[in-house]
Amino acid sequence: NQSLADVDPEIAAVIADELGRQRNTLEMIASENFAPRSVLEAQGSVLTNKYAEGYPGRRYYGGCEYVDVAENLAIERVKALFGAKFANVQPHSGASANAAALSAMIKPGDKMLGLSLAHGGHLTHGMKLNFSGKLYEVAAYEVEPDTFRIDMDKLREQARAERPQVIVAGWSAYPRQLDFAAFRSIADEVGALLWVDMAHFAGLVAAGLHPNPMPFADVVTSTVHKTLAGPRSGIILSNDADMAKRINSNVFPGQQGGPLMHAIAGKAVAFRIAGSEEFKDRQRRTLGGARILAERLTAADVVDRGVSVLSGGTDVHLVLVDLRNSELDGQQAEDLLHSIGITVNRNSVPFDPRPPMVTSGLRIGTPALATRGFGDEEFTEVAEIIAAALRDGAASDLEALRARVERLAADFPLYPGLEQW
Ligand code: PLP
Repeated sequence: NQSLADVDPEIAAVIADELGRQRNTLEMIASENFAPRSVLEAQGSVLTNKYAEGYPGRRYYGGCEYVDVAENLAIERVKALFGAKFANVQPHSGASANAAALSAMIKPGDKMLGLSLAHGGHLTHGMKLNFSGKLYEVAAYEVEPDTFRIDMDKLREQARAERPQVIVAGWSAYPRQLDFAAFRSIADEVGALLWVDMAHFAGLVAAGLHPNPMPFADVVTSTVHKTLAGPRSGIILSNDADMAKRINSNVFPGQQGGPLMHAIAGKAVAFRIAGSEEFKDRQRRTLGGARILAERLTAADVVDRGVSVLSGGTDVHLVLVDLRNSELDGQQAEDLLHSIGITVNRNSVPFDPRPPMVTSGLRIGTPALATRGFGDEEFTEVAEIIAAALRDGAASDLEALRARVERLAADFPLYPGLEQW
């Protein structure tokens, strides 16, 4: 019964150091968030000990009477949250949810049509080194070079020409809402299934601040750890009973063995929180912060230095900064912000002239800071700090900027009272 610090001081130090990093810096990676203490507790619980292959009431192991309660709660809560008739809450991650969803929808060799990775799609939407690109034939659509948006008329033409079995609507780096009704109509026209991967914007959907794909899609997948702020994991939703059966058998035994019951309990907690007013308010502040950032990064002083924002703004929780005309590349800009305590990730922009390890862009998101409590006033200050750094580059007053970051972090303590984790 020894503590982690007694058994393994090296790993205990890693966790303490990481907690310190999260507390003392500003986390602006668009796919990250801070799971609440309640979710961390569920994940760090004895549920990790339990084997529960199968589904509630139909397990291949004894002793599942309590974990069944947790899984049923997670299922019922997520169905209510998104208005879904069926839910599978067992996927270990977003990628494994997508693997199971694809194998429920199509067979190897069938064709999928998804947003290209270089234009904001995810690896699992058909990238050639990913299982999706290896198992399935892939056609990719792109954003327009002038608007950086998906042109639905062009997509319809492409779908008519390609005749895919599945069309994927969803993204990892796209600052606008998708037109699910138009995707549905295109899918119907060419006889394809519509799969929506809402991993990034699921929290906005849960809060009613983004259109809900459930009425349009055959299958919806998501992660739980981005805007939803739950445990690192995935889910699959559907309104179709036959599809739901295929999804269940493709998760288990198709893709996975024993479900992670501690993570599933954490999902149940996260879905409960996602139904609250506090959560809605947080998602409103998330969107407000992204808009403030987009406005600041389209002001004359930064535009004069070659900085701009893809599509001219944002409707979601992130901003894509275009540095193709800046003297900073994506790597340099990421390093510069890191040096003042702001964590972002460099990101290729569509039609990027620089290689993927360098890039000409940044993806900056507001979910984690909104969870920390930031509102318009703090996001205005963050936007000012980022704008100053990107504008002045190597000539920035790093010490002064770092001090402003430290002040914001100190004003909004993360996990107050927690000594470890
Ligand atoms: N789908 C989308 C749209 C994503 O952005 C991501 C993660 O970045 C995933 C799926 C995969 O999630 P995970 O990293 O949990 O496998």
